[in-house]
Amino acid sequence: MALPIHEQFHSFQGEGFHAGRAAYFIRTYGCPVHCPWCDSAGTWHPDHKPETLERPEAEALARAAANSKAEFTVITGGEPAIHDLRTLTDALHAHGQPVHLETSGAFPLQGDFDWITLSPKRWKLPLPENIARANEIKIIVDTPDAIEEYVAVMGEALRHTIPVWLHPEWSKRDDGAILTAITEWVKTKGAPFRAGGQWHKYYAADSLDPRSADPVPLGGDPACGPST
Ligand code: SF4
Repeated sequence: MALPIHEQFHSFQGEGFHAGRAAYFIRTYGCPVHCPWCDSAGTWHPDHKPETLERPEAEALARAAANSKAEFTVITGGEPAIHDLRTLTDALHAHGQPVHLETSGAFPLQGDFDWITLSPKRWKLPLPENIARANEIKIIVDTPDAIEEYVAVMGEALRHTIPVWLHPEWSKRDDGAILTAITEWVKTKGAPFRAGGQWHKYYAADSLDPRSADPVPLGGDPACGPST
């Protein structure tokens, strides 16, 4: 059966190594991780689930991505890795689209990816084989202690030479303690750590494409956490 797709839209990549580049986004439906500050809760939260769900064919998704003239396609979620993505990644490649994946890394990856952004979540930690395949790591800093917590959990994996981005959780983007924690960590440790952010949100870039869904940020409500 074709994949459940929450939304697709043309925008720019607002985060990480490829920030600022034109990108086509395909957001799959479904995520069992349930972060309390999820910014795409329309893909899983019972209070925000859409009434209907589309299942376009992979070929149609790939054609739309290629027609957009985006430099690459990002498969995101939700948690896309709960799905078998091979048919979609094959179709995108057949249309000349490099394929980027954004994942928590907590599930086995099925598909052919040109770039993998792994964002660990404490509620369901990444598999070692996915950490080894990642091209960059994105840590969402939701408390001043979160960097130390994730560094301890990820251990040797963070000795890679790949970039490790430290992003303030969006609802705390003006929280001085978190911004200071990121700044001091990067100043003290240097590579592979980099201070990061979510540029597309400052631009409201995604919403300029009418096919994008209204964002549903949970904003850190503990009631919306893993037990939801
Ligand atoms: S932020 Fe957390 S809950 Fe939201 S889609 Fe990503 S892993 Fe799932």
